[in-house]
Amino acid sequence: MHKKSAECAVRGLVAVVGLTLLACAQRDQSARQDLSAQGWIDVTATLDPATTPVYQGDAPMKFDFLKDMRKGDMLTLSVYSMGAHSGTHIDAPMHFIADGAPIDQVALSPLIGAARVIDIADSVQAIDAAELNRHEWKSAQRVLFRTRSTLRGWMDSSTFHRDFAYIAPDAAQLLADAGVQLVGVDYISAEQFGAAAPLTHRILLGRGIPIVEGLDLRTVQAGDYDVIVLPLKVRGHEGAPARAILRKRAGNQRVPTP
Ligand SMILES: [Zn+2]
Repeated sequence: MHKKSAECAVRGLVAVVGLTLLACAQRDQSARQDLSAQGWIDVTATLDPATTPVYQGDAPMKFDFLKDMRKGDMLTLSVYSMGAHSGTHIDAPMHFIADGAPIDQVALSPLIGAARVIDIADSVQAIDAAELNRHEWKSAQRVLFRTRSTLRGWMDSSTFHRDFAYIAPDAAQLLADAGVQLVGVDYISAEQFGAAAPLTHRILLGRGIPIVEGLDLRTVQAGDYDVIVLPLKVRGHEGAPARAILRKRAGNQRVPTP
């Protein structure tokens, strides 16, 4: 028993009324909450060769057991082989900028803090400046788009879809010019499939703005959150899978979108 709980129990015995016990129970509970994962929502797509989409032309995903206790081995031991941009991941500036920072040099500050999840209708494929401006985004420090890809469960389907919603270069320019620190999308690329040039990536990464791609936003709604998204720290490479979590911000006030 914790010291505080023991103290509570003793005081509970001598208390004339039951209120003391109640107060102690509440204090114990708040102490536990300080150290808990309460309120955090996992928005990471589960990496699984059976259900993780692979961008057309990217490396196949292969997970194997080198040793397997279920087959009589002394231990279980795995090997993973996959593209650096598999599942939920971060693009570092090095991805499209010649002297851009690799993933191990991306600062923590854009990856942790206030973020706004913006709903984009299923009918919209191009998130261009006009579409962006239909939403309340200008006060947001980090912007995550929840699009048709989430509505259709595409981060949980091994079929690669070309018609995912993407951020058009004019919208990327607005976000970059406004000083947004992190931009996120819910499919494995922020760029239009087959775009003649990777302008969206160049605009964002050229400003040092990391892009989080492949979020699974099915369990969250539009609104204001805290985000933590932490990519694997791989030295000298341009991207890495990441774990991403969101927590609803207290006093969330969202302007309804038309
Ligand atoms: Zn990427």
